[in-house]
Amino acid sequence: MSLHFASREDLFIFQNPVVYAHTDCGYCHGSKPDKKYGFSLESFRSHRSRLISVDYPRSVTIGVPISVISCERYERFLNLGYRRSGTFLYKMDALRGCCRMYPIRTNLDRIKLNKDHRHTVNRFTKRVLGTEIATKHNRPFSLDGLIEAESECSASRFHTIIEPADFSEEKFKLYCKYQIQVHKDKESDLSTKSFTRFLCKAPFRTENIDYVALNNWRKGGNIDQLRKMKGAIHECYYIDDQLVAVAVLDLLPNSVSSVYFIWDPAYASLGLGTLSALREALFTQRCGKQWYMMGYYIADCVKMKYKGKFGGEIWDQCSSQWVELAKVNHLIDDGRLCVFFSPEKEIPSRELPMKPSTASHEAKYYDIAETIYSTNGVAYKDALRVLETLGEINGLEDYFEENEFNLFDQKVVSEVYSSDVLPRVCPGLTPLWQIKELIDSKALENIEDCQRNPFVQPGLSLSKCNPDETKQVVDFVRLFGIDELKDILFV
Ligand SMILES: [Zn+2]
Repeated sequence: MSLHFASREDLFIFQNPVVYAHTDCGYCHGSKPDKKYGFSLESFRSHRSRLISVDYPRSVTIGVPISVISCERYERFLNLGYRRSGTFLYKMDALRGCCRMYPIRTNLDRIKLNKDHRHTVNRFTKRVLGTEIATKHNRPFSLDGLIEAESECSASRFHTIIEPADFSEEKFKLYCKYQIQVHKDKESDLSTKSFTRFLCKAPFRTENIDYVALNNWRKGGNIDQLRKMKGAIHECYYIDDQLVAVAVLDLLPNSVSSVYFIWDPAYASLGLGTLSALREALFTQRCGKQWYMMGYYIADCVKMKYKGKFGGEIWDQCSSQWVELAKVNHLIDDGRLCVFFSPEKEIPSRELPMKPSTASHEAKYYDIAETIYSTNGVAYKDALRVLETLGEINGLEDYFEENEFNLFDQKVVSEVYSSDVLPRVCPGLTPLWQIKELIDSKALENIEDCQRNPFVQPGLSLSKCNPDETKQVVDFVRLFGIDELKDILFV
């Protein structure tokens, strides 16, 4: 285990990254209608099928186990395309994996309520709350009407409780029912331990949460107080005092992030997934937070496709931009890897640098993924060129010896293949040319607010690191970018 930490308010402790390829993918289960659509790029498919005998890509994850992180830092990582499963931080390798996962965010201002949304809300209010929004309140349909109807409904018929993200037998029973019936999990794979690890543990603390005030959000509580609340919570839904759904949510400084949602399959006809998303978008606004983070959008996955109907923006990890989904839907619909680019701009001659995320509002986009990431593309050529000098640095030789096609070798991929070496080229990681520029420009020397070892000397200098430390620092910058090096201690 390696230890990294920052100033006391922003403690960050994590273990070294692991890359692993798994034979099963939780989204497509290797069953895309035409197997060639599992490949990120047409050129990648033809190159790989010549190289090895495996004909189909697997789920490939880059994961970082986290012990401690602040909500602020975690929210920045969400904006780098990471998500968490319990205390495990991860992103998918979009080049080698079978499914392209785009982080998606929205807010109430962006959601245009469509027929499905109205239908879901009306059905719920009529069947469960015993009222009809538009007629009862005699005014245009809005989500406020749903919340009012909820407040007016008797609590024994319907209520929700927001509470700490703790284990209970009741939640665990619902989780098992949901996983077995909806996700076809085996009962033997489900345990109280895995439930707790997945849906109760969080790598950050809760802060400023007053559960009475939080549960009163519908009544329009103190927005300044609500905005300051941070941490992982559960919102439990009860119909006739039976637990029917649990939303696992992270309250972050500027957003509410949906981690997972489980619901009782007996209530499938209520469309609780859509209903909870609409409620959570409203909740986000009432808490004074800007973004409702909906997790990953996968264009060619039926289970995830519904997220596209909330007016969202998706994150392009190759160009560090949030782009309106409606403008690029036609590009990603077949599940391939895309890099969104403005037709106004000149095609880049190398992989785009990792940089802080921005929202992009071009009128049109086109896709330059083949130009950059194909096996003959600029990213691989650059990586090979840069490796000639980078590969000579002690600590980086193993790092750069890794052949990404190992991930698809039949022998090693039969179960789970894992490696502690990051791929040379991977969308969403700092490109090697940028690492080389940082080293050449001495940006990794004498970083005063970043320490190698406080007992030896203050300030981090890559040139004074031993090989293990060098790998740690370079891994860190590839995963999170140089801006995150601030206030980090490597031990
Ligand atoms: Zn998949």
